Amino acid sequence: MKTSESLHPDLDKLQIEFNEFSQFYKHHSFHLDKLKNRISWYKCPDPYSGKHGNFYSICLTDNPSNYDDSHIVAHELSHCILWEMGYPYLEPRNMVQDVYQTPSNSLKNLCSAITNMVYNPMIEHHLKKYYSDLYSKDKETYKNSINQWNLKTINDDNLFEWSCLFVGAFLTLKWLSGDNNNFENWEYSKSENGKIVAPCANKIIKLLDDCGFNSSINIAKSQDIIVTTFLKIAQTFDFTVQCNPRPQTIFLCENSFKESEHL
Ligand SMILES: [Zn+2]
Repeated sequence: MKTSESLHPDLDKLQIEFNEFSQFYKHHSFHLDKLKNRISWYKCPDPYSGKHGNFYSICLTDNPSNYDDSHIVAHELSHCILWEMGYPYLEPRNMVQDVYQTPSNSLKNLCSAITNMVYNPMIEHHLKKYYSDLYSKDKETYKNSINQWNLKTINDDNLFEWSCLFVGAFLTLKWLSGDNNNFENWEYSKSENGKIVAPCANKIIKLLDDCGFNSSINIAKSQDIIVTTFLKIAQTFDFTVQCNPRPQTIFLCENSFKESEHL
């Protein structure tokens, strides 16, 4: 029990109370041990995890205490485990004449939308091994999210970002259910904003498919597929990238973002 104490004080409790979390924790103890003292925990409205060099941050809505919280912790820890394994981290970058400027919020949101579109389906599909009821749980969560998403205004400037959000939700539920649905047959593609994003979403889904990104992806050795996928997304949608191989970070650059607002 010593290991988790240094990760977060509540994780011991989650391991004792929820067998699903305990199994997840045991199976990933090698990487979780390496994350000791390298995760900062915060509270924020939406669960989130980020990477800062060799350190990570995880935001949770509150101190984790129940079964649903244990799944959210396992999900956020999985992001850190994947990055720790060498999976690429997508980061916004704005350099003006070699001087670093704070990236715009739209570029930050876009990076997080692309990151989540790629990693969330992988992580949830993997977590299904431990949390067998994940499909019904995620279906409910996404139903609520998509109801909220349909209240937002989608325009040329944010179409790509919203398409990524819908594709992430679509792939997560498709991989969890194991069905063969295409985007058009998905119930939420018939929602107001689902219809607006459909052409761009289909383009992204085809790109992911061409890169070999599918539910049979092997979490222990698919880093190259994800690097290729991020680079292909950048190329197809006209973003400039800079790559830093150690640790594997792909910077999505601000200058190209402004030029390619109309996708
Ligand atoms: Zn996630």
